[in-house]
Amino acid sequence: MSNHTVARIAVPVPLYSLFDYLLPESCEPVPVKGCRVRVQFGRKQLVGLVISTGSESNYPVAKLKPILEIIDSQPILSAELIKLLEWAAGYYHHPLGDVIFSAMPKRLREGMSGELKSENHWTLSRLGRTYSIDDLKRAPKQAALLAYLQDSSEREFTASQLNGDWDNWRAPIQALVKKSLVNIDEKIQSAVIPCPGHIKDETFIGLKLNQQQSNAATAVIQAFNAYQAFLLQGITGSGKTEVYLDIIEFALKQDLQVLVLVPEISLTPQLTQRFTQRLNTCIASLHSGLNDTQRLSAWVQANKGIARVVIGTRSALFTPMPDLGLIILDEEHDASFKQQEGFRYHARDLALVRAKNKRIPILLGSATPSFESLENISRGVYTLLNLTQRGAAGASPPQVSLLDVCRRPMEDGISDKLLIKIKEHLKNNGQILLFLNRRGYAPLLMCHECGWTTTCQRCDANLTLHHHNQRLRCHHCGYEKQAPSSCPECRHESLYIPGAGTERIEVALTKKFPDIVISRIDRDTTRRKGELDKKLNQARLGEAKILIGTQMLAKGHDFPNVTLVGILNADQGLFSADFRGTEHMAQLIIQVSGRAGRGEKPGEVIIQTHHPEHPLLHTLLESGYPGFARTALFERQQASFPPFSYMVIVRCESIQKNTGVDFLNECRQTLNYQGVELFGPLPAPMERRAGRYRWQLILLSSERKKLHGVLKHWVPGISKLKTASKVRWSIDVDPQDMF
Ligand code: ADP
Ligand code: ZN
Ligand code: ZN
Repeated sequence: MSNHTVARIAVPVPLYSLFDYLLPESCEPVPVKGCRVRVQFGRKQLVGLVISTGSESNYPVAKLKPILEIIDSQPILSAELIKLLEWAAGYYHHPLGDVIFSAMPKRLREGMSGELKSENHWTLSRLGRTYSIDDLKRAPKQAALLAYLQDSSEREFTASQLNGDWDNWRAPIQALVKKSLVNIDEKIQSAVIPCPGHIKDETFIGLKLNQQQSNAATAVIQAFNAYQAFLLQGITGSGKTEVYLDIIEFALKQDLQVLVLVPEISLTPQLTQRFTQRLNTCIASLHSGLNDTQRLSAWVQANKGIARVVIGTRSALFTPMPDLGLIILDEEHDASFKQQEGFRYHARDLALVRAKNKRIPILLGSATPSFESLENISRGVYTLLNLTQRGAAGASPPQVSLLDVCRRPMEDGISDKLLIKIKEHLKNNGQILLFLNRRGYAPLLMCHECGWTTTCQRCDANLTLHHHNQRLRCHHCGYEKQAPSSCPECRHESLYIPGAGTERIEVALTKKFPDIVISRIDRDTTRRKGELDKKLNQARLGEAKILIGTQMLAKGHDFPNVTLVGILNADQGLFSADFRGTEHMAQLIIQVSGRAGRGEKPGEVIIQTHHPEHPLLHTLLESGYPGFARTALFERQQASFPPFSYMVIVRCESIQKNTGVDFLNECRQTLNYQGVELFGPLPAPMERRAGRYRWQLILLSSERKKLHGVLKHWVPGISKLKTASKVRWSIDVDPQDMF
């Protein structure tokens, strides 16, 4: 009998199984669940995670390969996180190995240590700074080293610095330490572990909460140490952030860690700044500006309990926090909490699971809650907290009006009436925000003579005209070419430029107002690192008088000087093919409008539309978001769409249309879908993208359990279907859009 140990390993591959390996003989200590190991997988070496150990295997033990290296002696992932990830792998029907490794910072995926590294620092003592070199005559090496230290402009020396200049410095420096000429400090290596929140001596006193804010904060504080989900529904500018800060202060006093999730990267620096000003603690901020080492640092800081507050976007949900006592998720309705590729999870839904597992409260905040959350309020699953007034003294909700632009003079996307308003607000020293959810100069180029248009050869989409470099670019696949000066079909030179994007608005207004600072904020103008931050600051300080932007500019920002908001084209979302289209449109309109009148000056919002009679716009303006949501939720219920049913989409992409359709048909045949409605194969709303045909199967059920029961037995077999290897396919549980 050999006394082998078999370890079951999760590896980062898109396969629905774990893999057995043999532990090296006399391996001490035996790695436990959550430790990383290195294994040979096919021709590659991979970092994997131990899920269990034992003596049994489903394979002949003699054929098992040995583990090459044991990376961690202690689990790198806590039992709490692994439990969450295992749950997620089950719920999203995604391979566990891929789930685990997509939740880790890249450096850990590569096998780097997750321990704090400490490093010695040497400094001259007070005595050493003035000590005469001559007194060390009998120890020439020490004398030379001391002279070097005294002459250097540096105050602190690390091994790597000394290695650069000296061959044998360790013995002499030890001797100098013994003589009290040099001090030695063990410091946590600063390159690996910077404390991002700089800790101040005095604490900034928070604003005095109004009655509603204080009621909300108290409700959450009273729920500490148990699971409870709260929805803070506060109109834009009602001071939700102040409520968060108040509760976080309480949590910190209880020695608890707090996780704060935000949708947009652009919001992280702003919020982090507000938090550092107020909270006297180490804050780790996980945003896209970090490099891989910094990302690992933040992770380690949180894991070791050094960082007490973690602020980040979607993936920060997986940050290990041993003392986690509260989760806050701001702008909970935002679609960017849903990961749209690979492991397609929803950070809000998983945050709820994490809070439940950990038995702690979770606070979701929004001015425009998702229909899922509103329905959870109706069902009594969440507790509702309301903020109905603006927080800042004197600030009141903006005045919103529809501007019917049918048959009105329009120039470059701006109607004559709106232009008058812009001039009026400029004259009164107001700040103006113009919102248009389309970047570039114009959505296409068209021939006035023969009707030729610029379509992408690889997508069912038009090429967008970019004016500054006269390029036509596809916003879906990145294809790009020079804009022609005459029609390629009929050679006519009368090319026509219909519609407008943010660039066109900027060009037009710059001509009209040459002396005004205009700032355009969209993906094209903020590509360079730091640019977005700079522009947002300029906007906040009121330096730019006219702001033009896409949804990047619309969400969550506090621009206290904005007095006029213009929504240039409200019609884009009115006739969407997606069942969530109107919900998202209404949220966007309210969020953008909410940027007006946040300070002392009153705000005004003008919505340009060709459909002023549209019921969506009417309900929204007459009864606000809550009224709109009531009507729209009723319609959803009639149609049995989520949140009144549960949806899963099987998506597939293929070069040839038939291959994809064949694959989905084969899927359909092997699916035992009793109790579940099945639609498809259907073409995706954008059938062709980047040269591939996109088709889908839609599964819908009023019972979540039933739907997941069906999937559980079916999904692992999909990759074994004959046609599966010829297509790219994926499963999207609770999809946020149909595209
Ligand atoms: P929200 O996140 O709900 O949109 P913010 O938290 O950004 O709102 O607050 C909007 C503005 O109101 C901020 O400028 C904030 O300083 C101010 N504010 C919030 N609460 C109070 C309060 N209790 N007293 C005075 N000003 C407040
Ligand atoms: Zn033509
Ligand atoms: Zn394209």
